[in-house]
Amino acid sequence: MTDQIVAGTLLTMDGERTIWTDGGVLVRDGLIDAVGHRHDLVEQHPDARVMGGPRCIVTPGFVNAHQHLTGDRLIRSCIPDYIQAREAIFDWVVPVHAAHTGDDDELSATLSLLEAVGNGITTTVEAGTVAHPERVATAFERVGVRGTVGTWGWDVGDGPFAADTDDVLERQQSVLDSWPTGGLVEGWVTLVGHDLASDRLFSDAADMARAAGTGLTFHMSPSPDDGVAFSERSGKRPIHHLADLGVLGPGTLIAHAVHIDEREMSLLLDTRTAIAYCPWAYLRLGQGVTGAGHHVDFLHQGGRLALGCDTENAGDAIDAVRVGALATGLARDMSCDPTVFEAHEALELITIGGAEAIGMGDRIGSLEVGKAADLVVHDLSGVGSTPNAVDPALQLLWAGDGRAVRDVIVDGIPVVLDGRSTRVDHEGLVDEAELAQRRLFEQAGLSPTPRWPVR
Ligand SMILES: [Zn+2]
Repeated sequence: MTDQIVAGTLLTMDGERTIWTDGGVLVRDGLIDAVGHRHDLVEQHPDARVMGGPRCIVTPGFVNAHQHLTGDRLIRSCIPDYIQAREAIFDWVVPVHAAHTGDDDELSATLSLLEAVGNGITTTVEAGTVAHPERVATAFERVGVRGTVGTWGWDVGDGPFAADTDDVLERQQSVLDSWPTGGLVEGWVTLVGHDLASDRLFSDAADMARAAGTGLTFHMSPSPDDGVAFSERSGKRPIHHLADLGVLGPGTLIAHAVHIDEREMSLLLDTRTAIAYCPWAYLRLGQGVTGAGHHVDFLHQGGRLALGCDTENAGDAIDAVRVGALATGLARDMSCDPTVFEAHEALELITIGGAEAIGMGDRIGSLEVGKAADLVVHDLSGVGSTPNAVDPALQLLWAGDGRAVRDVIVDGIPVVLDGRSTRVDHEGLVDEAELAQRRLFEQAGLSPTPRWPVR
């Protein structure tokens, strides 16, 4: 493949967080081959194709550490927002998941990943609520993005694809066998989490992930409910219980961990367990992050933190910059102190910090020689970015969102050019998506209506 030079103001996110004005990244064979001044690279590589340019910012591809790719997507923004989170999940999301076919899974994941990459997200950790992982892996390949895939993992209750412990473990193992670590799509061990797994499932799943050298992810304590459930189950706090089962560790990524006490925080820090923090979900579902959340303390004590966009009906937009801005604003407001957390730290969380938290810091997350060429060109020529700011990080985070993303390269391949996927035409999926939405509502026995009268 022809060499490419991606030019602009580079936010490298390297060890020193070097910024290059009028910089360039040389992309060769899927990897970053050189980083430097644009004119030097162009001179040395006259045959290279040049992308980006003046008034562009180039960042590493963003990391979304918690995203449901199926289920909610095809009924996006249809679940009423005046009901309790439990009702939204168990009366709406779960029945829609249960009605999903393989075609629905692929369509849903394709749409989610197209939106994500259009907003600069090149790596997505799928949250594990997938019935047909092979179809979701196909969606990753179609859209041309990096990520992890799992499958339903719960052995308690009667939700979709709940099964006995051995069956669940077998299903998880087959995902790991199909998508080994190191590929563009990796298999992870994924449990639903909460109070919806037996002790044996939690501990055997952790052993399985460790043996395969891959990640384990599950949900815990977005609201106070899991704390109540575990105090009845074992008399211990959830994270304490999991620590005793041997579930914590550097390969474990816990989604949420909002309602945790000091002891639980210490256990997460001591074991190097990572957290995927999804603040839009807690705000949308009213789960109390502004009172209970300690994610920034966790980070500042050395904790491994990433950001996630979660599911459409808990956050709606799949936009890492939007999540970063929210996380920054929440941290400052919760402490009545604008100095506790800055935009630059949020950018770290969606690039190198997030990559490190999901165990991929050696491969992605920064513009450094030898890393995978996952790059995003943000076009700052629009009126909203005029004049360009002195510090591009401030402009990108506080004044930006995914709408400025123009070009995206993953593994050296341009997958978005001029704001459009080079691989999938989403307009060709509209009819199919509308049809699928109607059928899913019918099969799940749901009939949403607008809140206001329609004439
Ligand atoms: Zn989730």
